[in-house]
Amino acid sequence: MYKRVLLKISGEALAAGRGFGIDAIFASRVASEIAELCNSGCQVGVVVGGGNFFRGVAEQAIHMDRVAADHMGMLSTVINAIALQDAIEKLGINCRVMSAIEMHEIAEPYIRRRAIRHLEKGRVVIFGAGTGNPYFSTDTAAALRAMEIRADVLLKATSVDGIYTADPKKDPDATMFDTITYMDIIQRGLRVMDTSAVSLCNENRMPMVIFSMREQGNIVRVVSGERLGTLVVS
Ligand code: UDP
Repeated sequence: MYKRVLLKISGEALAAGRGFGIDAIFASRVASEIAELCNSGCQVGVVVGGGNFFRGVAEQAIHMDRVAADHMGMLSTVINAIALQDAIEKLGINCRVMSAIEMHEIAEPYIRRRAIRHLEKGRVVIFGAGTGNPYFSTDTAAALRAMEIRADVLLKATSVDGIYTADPKKDPDATMFDTITYMDIIQRGLRVMDTSAVSLCNENRMPMVIFSMREQGNIVRVVSGERLGTLVVS
């Protein structure tokens, strides 16, 4: 159904229950789903988070300079990007890491046209180092890259099934939205992703599907058009 997608995977997801670091088994499972997408002809861009190693905002609590902490956060996304690249290439799929912060020995610099060329050639492109700027999140990076590469959809793979009226862990009456607008997310104060990412997607009419990646095969299911999770539209 979707020809070009931008998949956002949080750092926490890669830690898969360990809370810190990378769960190699989970990373290779995600890689195999990405490989399956590629083999079916879908072009895949990936933005990985870094929360499994370092979060700038959290580190402010220990009185670190926010910009320095965010630099560390962005570097941690590159660690995840390299791990995921390795897992994807083990499956015989070509994969490039493009970093928003230059580090030539490790990753290509992010150049939009080159990224699109990689995608057209069937290579997976993992966008590391977020937006390259402090005070942003990898959700905003995902929204930005989705628009830049003209993805058909932004796929936010999470540990919950979709967007709920309230936190389902705290409120047993919470129900999941099948579809919701970005405006509704803002007005209801739903904590889905940060507001800069929400408004970027809203203003540029980038649809997003939020779904759980706990069940193996969900990424492929969503891309092939199965209605999973919550669809967010402008
Ligand atoms: N970060 C940043 N600019 C960006 C993207 C990320 O400074 O454009 C930093 C920020 O400190 C953030 C950390 O990198 O906390 C890890 O990213 P994020 O928290 O979005 O990761 P996730 O929650 O998806 O694992």
